Amino acid sequence: MVNVLINGYGSIGKRVADAVSMQDDMKVVGVTKTKPDFEARLAVEKGYKLFVAIPDKERVKLFEDAGIPVEGTILDIIEDVDIVVDGAPKKIGKQNLENIYKPHKVKAILQGGEKAKDVEDNFNALWSYDRCYGKDYVRVVSCNTTGLCRILYAINSVADIKKARVVLVRRAADPNDDKRGPINAIVPNPVTVPSHHGPDVVSVVPEFEGKIVTSAVIVPTTLMHQHTLMVEVKNNVSRDDILESIEKTPRIITVKYEDGFTSTAQIIEYGRDLGRLRYDINELVVWEESVNVVDNEIFLMQAVHQESIVIPENIDCIRSMLQLEEDKFKSIEKTNKAMGIK
Ligand code: NAP
Repeated sequence: MVNVLINGYGSIGKRVADAVSMQDDMKVVGVTKTKPDFEARLAVEKGYKLFVAIPDKERVKLFEDAGIPVEGTILDIIEDVDIVVDGAPKKIGKQNLENIYKPHKVKAILQGGEKAKDVEDNFNALWSYDRCYGKDYVRVVSCNTTGLCRILYAINSVADIKKARVVLVRRAADPNDDKRGPINAIVPNPVTVPSHHGPDVVSVVPEFEGKIVTSAVIVPTTLMHQHTLMVEVKNNVSRDDILESIEKTPRIITVKYEDGFTSTAQIIEYGRDLGRLRYDINELVVWEESVNVVDNEIFLMQAVHQESIVIPENIDCIRSMLQLEEDKFKSIEKTNKAMGIK
C-alpha cells in the first residue's frame, strides 16, 4: 500500500481521494483544505485525516475555532507520503510544486490547470503511461484534453491520422461554482484559433504536432463539455471500423440519440440513474449516430463530464510514477474494476 496525500480537496481532489480509497494498492493518508467549511467537515466525517494546506498557525486556529479537527498542516505529513496528488486551483499547483513538493523531494501529480512546461511529462493512461513510468513530477492533462486523447487513441488504432479539427463547446462553470459565467452568452474562448487544446494534446502525443487544430467557445451550462471532431485519415476506414475500435477502447462508451440520449442533460440523468457517486460519468461519451465517414474524413460528436473524466487517469498516473504496475492495460483494468467503470 503506497501513501497518497490529496493536497486540495475540491472538485477534483475529493473525487481522487474516493477513487484512491477504492484501490487495494494505495491509500489516502490525508486530504487538505484552506477553509474550514462544510467540505472540510465532511472530509473528517468520511474518515479522512484533514490537514491545513497552508502552513500557518493562524489557519490551523480557524479550523479549531470552527470545531473541525485537523491533524496539523501539510508540513506535518509531507515527509510520510509516497506521492501527492495536487488538486489546488489553477496556478497554485505550480507554486506547491516549487515551494513544497520539490524541496521535500516528494513525487507529485499536478492537474490540467497547470502548464505542460512546468512538469517532467504529461499523462494520459492510453498514450503516456510508459513514458511517465518512475517520473517525479507529472501533469494529468485537463478534462477536454483527456477526452480528445481517448478518442484519438481509438481512431489511431485503426486509421493513419492526417489531421484532426475539433470544435469544443465548453461548460461555463462546474455546478458548485457560483462565481463564473456567462449566464446568457456564447463566448469565444480563446477568440484566437487555434485554442490551447491542440497543443495540450501534443504535450501527451508529440506525433500529433502540426496535425491537430482546435477552436473553443464557452456556453451557459454546467453539466458537460461537448466536442465535434473532423479527422482526416490516409487509409480507408469504415464507420463500423471506428465504432468497433471505440468499443475496444477503455473508458469510452457510446450512447444512442434514439435511445433517449438527446443531450448532455440526459447523459447526466443516466449517471444519476446508474447511482454513480456524485452522478460521475468517468468515461468519454460518444453519440453513436454522430459517427460518420465521408471521403476519408471521420466525423463524430462526444461529451465530457469535466469533473470526473480525469479521476481514473490520476489513479493510473500514481501507479505509473510509483512503478506499481508495468503494464498500462493492467493498471487501467484494475482502476476501472475498482471504480465500476468501463
Ligand atoms: P476547486 O474545486 O476550486 O478545488 C480546489 C481545492 O484546492 C479546494 O479544496 C481548496 O481548498 C484547495 N486549495 C486552495 N488553495 C490551496 C493551496 N494553496 N494548496 C492546496 N490546496 C489549496 O478546483 P478544481 O476544479 O478541483 O480544480 C483543481 C485543478 O484541477 C485545477 O488545476 C483545474 O484546472 C483542474 N481540473 C479541473 C476540472 C474541473 O472541471 N473542475 C477538470 C479537470 C481538471 P479550500 O476550498 O479550503 O480553499
